[in-house]
This record gives sequence, structure tokens and C-alpha cells, in this order.
Amino acid sequence: MMRPHTGTQTMEELRTEVLIVGAGPVGLAMALMLEKLGIDCMIVERREGLHDSPQAHVISSRSLEICRALGIDDATIRSAGPDPADTRNVRWVDRLIGRDLGVFSL
Ligand SMILES: Cc1cc2nc3c(=O)[nH]c(=O)nc-3n(C[C@H](O)[C@H](O)[C@H](O)COP(=O)(O)OP(=O)(O)OC[C@H]3O[C@@H](n4cnc5c(N)ncnc54)[C@H](O)[C@@H]3O)c2cc1C
Repeated sequence: MMRPHTGTQTMEELRTEVLIVGAGPVGLAMALMLEKLGIDCMIVERREGLHDSPQAHVISSRSLEICRALGIDDATIRSAGPDPADTRNVRWVDRLIGRDLGVFSL
């Protein structure tokens, strides 16, 4: 079973069968797979929250198949993605999640 654990300043002994370092897509998928197999695991992540900038724009069909097998449906993933109407646009921005300087359509 996955167990959430928030960092504390005190030393605490934690035991788990599998320790996963990093709650990126690989670590999170690994945790879901281990949970399906009934193997106890724990994820440690150095970040306190989600990334504030995009980490993927295009997801391969094989990745979507793996997500579906893990119980994550396509609709949930698509709803978190960009508007399909925007995917043919090329943008100039001052930062990845910054101000739009210009855009043209392919
Ligand atoms: C701008 C951008 C666009 C991208 N676009 C696409 C795309 O369109 N399609 C695509 O397939 N991929 C894309 N990628 C790549 C994709 O985001 C990565 O391949 C994917 O995130 C890798 O997953 P991961 O779990 O291996 O690593 P990460 O996502 O990097 O996760 C690793 C996690 O481990 C944590 N961590 C690291 N060291 C420690 C430690 N010592 N202790 C605790 N936690 C730790 C990190 O904080 C991080 O959260 C893009 C990446 C970027 C940056």
C-alpha cells in the first residue's frame, strides 16, 4: 500500500519493501504497479508540489496504454493537457510559463 508521508524535522524510522526516489512519471507509475502487485512501497520526493511549468506536451500511445492498464483513463490525461486547437501554434514566450510575445499557426 502507498503511504503518504510529509517531511518532518524529527528523525523517524520508516520501513518499506521498496523505496522509490522521485515522484515523476516513472516513480509514480512504479508505485501504482507495485501497489497492483500488493508490494509495499514508499515514494520520497524532494519537491513540495507539482512543477509549475509543463513537463510534457505529447504523450506516446504506448504510455497511454500503460496508464490505462494502471486505471488512469485517457480523458483524465487529456483534460490536463493543452487545448488541441492550440497544438498547431508556435509561440514566443519570455519564460516557459511566461508572457506571450508572439504566435503563428502552422
Ligand atoms: C519542457 C519539457 C517538455 C517535455 N515534453 C515532453 C513531451 O512532450 N513528451 C514526453 O514524453 N516527454 C517530455 N518531456 C520529458 C518528460 O518530462 C520526462 O521524460 C519525464 O518527466 C521523466 O520522468 P522521470 O520520472 O524519469 O523523471 P522526472 O520527471 O525528472 O522526475 C524525477 C523526480 O525525482 C525527484 N528527485 C530527484 N532526485 C531526488 C532525490 N535525491 N530525492 C528526492 N526526490 C528526487 C525530482 O524532484 C523529480 O520530481 C519534457 C520535459 C520538459 C522539461
